[in-house]
Amino acid sequence: MTQFRNDHLSFSRLALFEQCPLSYRFKYIEKLAGESNNAMRFGKAIHSVLEQLVLEAISEEHSGVLPEARALVLFKEAWVAEGLSGIELFQEGRETIQRFIHEQGVLDERNVLAVEKEFRLSVGPFTVLGFIDRVDYVDDETVQVIDYKSNHQLFTRDEVDNSLQLSLYALAARKLWPWAKKVKLCFWMLRHGLRQETERTQEQLDAALAYVEMLGQQTETATSFPARLNTNCPYCSFRPFCDAYDRALKGTLDYVCSDLADLDAVAKEREQVAKVAKIAYARKEELDRVLKAHLKEQGELVLSGVKYRMFNTTKVEYPLAATLEALGPVTGKSWNELVAELAVIDPKALDSLMKKLGGETDRSRVLLLKAELDANATKTHSPRLWAKEVTL
Ligand code: SF4
Repeated sequence: MTQFRNDHLSFSRLALFEQCPLSYRFKYIEKLAGESNNAMRFGKAIHSVLEQLVLEAISEEHSGVLPEARALVLFKEAWVAEGLSGIELFQEGRETIQRFIHEQGVLDERNVLAVEKEFRLSVGPFTVLGFIDRVDYVDDETVQVIDYKSNHQLFTRDEVDNSLQLSLYALAARKLWPWAKKVKLCFWMLRHGLRQETERTQEQLDAALAYVEMLGQQTETATSFPARLNTNCPYCSFRPFCDAYDRALKGTLDYVCSDLADLDAVAKEREQVAKVAKIAYARKEELDRVLKAHLKEQGELVLSGVKYRMFNTTKVEYPLAATLEALGPVTGKSWNELVAELAVIDPKALDSLMKKLGGETDRSRVLLLKAELDANATKTHSPRLWAKEVTL
């Protein structure tokens, strides 16, 4: 069997190579320190608060709603330890923690099987190491693996269903809790207050193992480390060393299609433009955050010939009962006629009610109800272009 320099590979190492070989080279081969940014330190601070909070609940045998006051003290300590700054981000952190406590609801500490659990998986000639944020007992056949995420953007369904990280966690959970016939997996999206859930089939797990072994061999034998622009570039620690990122920010395309009848060329340029646009958009968000922080103190800025100030957008919501009561006598229409004409159900609120019901009511009843609601729902479809990289 081939001997590799590193036969112990962390998941984060493999993931970095997969995401961008150049950033892997910077970190693991050239061992550059990289710049730590607010987004990374913010994520670390939030993770440490949630970890500590749940560990304290376990050590104190506390079952119930997690204590918000204690959570906010922990957040202050983590904020200082990470050297974070900025009142807006501080407030966002507090809200993220409060949202987590609300979304968690009642925590029965006896149902938490592990927090920050280390795992080791044998994959061909490698041992893959990693840590799982939290694992919960669901029932006598099921565990749930939770990975906290502080991302601004939600994952697509496809990303959740194909996440290599979640596949490895599923394998690890099966090894650590062999009695569990079923492993539920979730990214807990802390900024959004929702969980993106999925599961894996045996075929998917076998494919993940084969893929990880191949990825391990690639990291150990690679001689070239090309930059791979991706949505994480704006948060990459190695941006200052990366020419590809610099060119993307300036809107420079390495390839421009000269013949629109050549579909391969069209697709090649389209993918580059899409990546550059995403990076430019994320950079604009980053620059906006800096300007907004200054506008909080100064009210108005005039910079490089442009005037900046904040303004409030207004969202109007009409309460259903009071609105229909007021309209009824004037329009001469019945309550039902007005509901049919004006009322729509907020899909997000309905979704969260169904989730709550799922935890309280018989599962088959909830599924029947969902099917009935879906049958009555009106669906509109609009065409959208979908694109995903494939290995040829
Ligand atoms: S900025 Fe993007 S392309 Fe450059 S090293 Fe980082 S992840 Fe790779």
